[in-house]
Amino acid sequence: METMRDALDHGPEAGDDDARYAAELLDRLSHSKFRASFSLGAADRAYAWSKGIPVVAGHARELLRARVGAARPFKDGKQTPYRGHPVFVAQHATATCCRSCIARWHGIPVGVTLSDRQIERLATLVTAWIQRDLDAHPRPTPASVQPRKRGRGRGRAGTPKQPTLF
Ligand SMILES: [Zn+2]
Repeated sequence: METMRDALDHGPEAGDDDARYAAELLDRLSHSKFRASFSLGAADRAYAWSKGIPVVAGHARELLRARVGAARPFKDGKQTPYRGHPVFVAQHATATCCRSCIARWHGIPVGVTLSDRQIERLATLVTAWIQRDLDAHPRPTPASVQPRKRGRGRGRAGTPKQPTLF
C-alpha cells in the first residue's frame, strides 16, 4: 500500500496532488478559529497583485526553504513575522510558520530537512491561501472608483489619474 510519504516522493501528477492537498487543508484550516482569523492587509494585497501569483509562489518556496526547511531551523517557533510579506501572513494562516505547526497540521516530523517535494506542496498551499484572499477582495481599479458627484462637472475626463502604487 502506498503511503502519503511515498506519494510525496514520486508520482507524475504531483501538481494535481498538491492542488488537492491545498484544497483539503484550506477546508480543515477554516475550522480553526486561530488559523481562520488571518487575512492580508491592504499593503500585502497590493504587493501580491503587483507581483502576480507566479512570482509570489516563487517567494513562498524561497521563504519556506529558508525559514522552515532545515531539520532544526534557527529560532524555530519565532522565525515567521506577522507582517512584511504576504507569504508570512499566509504561513500563519496555513500552519506552515514553524516546525511544530508543520508537524501538527502536515504530519512532517520535526528534526527532518524538508524535501523539495514537501517544500513544493507547502508552497502550493501558501499560494492557494493568498490566491483565495485576493479572490475574496477584488482588486480596486480606477474604473471602480465612483466620482463624488455624478452628472455635474466634467465627468470622467476630470477624474485625476490614479497614482501608480509600484
Ligand atoms: Zn508555528
